[in-house]
Amino acid sequence: MLKKYNFIFILIFFFSNWIRADEINFFKKIRGCFCTGGLIVGKVDRSDKIVIDGKSIKISEDGFFVFGFDRNYQNSVNFNVNGQKYTRNIEKKKYKVERINNLPKRKVEPSKDDLDQIIKDQKKIKLAKKNSINRKIFSNKFRLPVEGRISGVYGSQRILNKIPKRPHYGLDIAAPKGKKIFAPNNGVVTMSAKNMFFTGNTVILDHGLGLISIFAHLEDIFVEVGEAVEVGKLIASVGMTGRATGPHLHWGMYLSNIPIDPMLVVEANLF
Ligand SMILES: [Zn+2]
Repeated sequence: MLKKYNFIFILIFFFSNWIRADEINFFKKIRGCFCTGGLIVGKVDRSDKIVIDGKSIKISEDGFFVFGFDRNYQNSVNFNVNGQKYTRNIEKKKYKVERINNLPKRKVEPSKDDLDQIIKDQKKIKLAKKNSINRKIFSNKFRLPVEGRISGVYGSQRILNKIPKRPHYGLDIAAPKGKKIFAPNNGVVTMSAKNMFFTGNTVILDHGLGLISIFAHLEDIFVEVGEAVEVGKLIASVGMTGRATGPHLHWGMYLSNIPIDPMLVVEANLF
């Protein structure tokens, strides 16, 4: 009698481990942060069918997929991989409230003419974010584009001149005007614009697979649209153009319009 039960237990043990091995093997193919603001990169078979939280995931020709968790992502994420279902918890990062009170009134409460320009700027940025190259251009390691003090982090709730605004989607690095800014990873320049209302002189770099970097408040721009740049290439210099209280680089990252935390991407070892 006892022997029979033992046999069943052993069978269950092996069966459950066999299922778990599948799951472990799948998550070995993914790198990045399962956290709010996090980016994950997977290296899989082109023939795999992957659905994440109900969304069918596109696998690139070179066998990669990417997924991003925004600032307010739910507590867990559900994967369906070739019919197998897995769940992972999402670590909820804490975000602080940030008050900035010495901004020019016009930059916080834009006039009607300003709003026209803002809409124009947004259209331009949106266009540059679209049509990303469906191939992984970035390498496993992202670097900080400029040396300096971190003066603003991703996700903080911003209250500008006492008016609550959308969260800060980027990393601010304070550095002297004219300090060189280098490409944090390989990419193709998809936008280079002067005097945008909020972001001032602005560059957008396409890293492939829908992942882009935006560099704002620049002084000089040293790259042109269509140019392919390698990690470490000089792209611009620090300024305080647009809505800025001092010279700094605002580095934003987006995955198909989902704001990603650049610091988490720098800390990650991706594919
Ligand atoms: Zn910023």
